[in-house]
Amino acid sequence: MKFERRDTILLLGAIMLAIGMIPFTTPAFAMITAAAVFFGIKWFSVWRKRSIMLEAGLGFCAECGSAVTKDGCPQCNNKKE
Ligand SMILES: [Zn+2]
Repeated sequence: MKFERRDTILLLGAIMLAIGMIPFTTPAFAMITAAAVFFGIKWFSVWRKRSIMLEAGLGFCAECGSAVTKDGCPQCNNKKE
């Protein structure tokens, strides 16, 4: 699980949510909820990206790492021609 720039925005959003929740609940519960939201969205985006890759292709090229379709690697096939 790589940490991307988008995750910083997501983390800030989760912190804002925690701060916003503190007046209505305990700080500990706000932190737990914010962490659950952060990891929930993070997990969902990783899962969705992976399912798109699986639908689009048959895996990843060993040469360049791009998604391989049923016709082979689009990147490496272009290089050979
Ligand atoms: Zn390739």
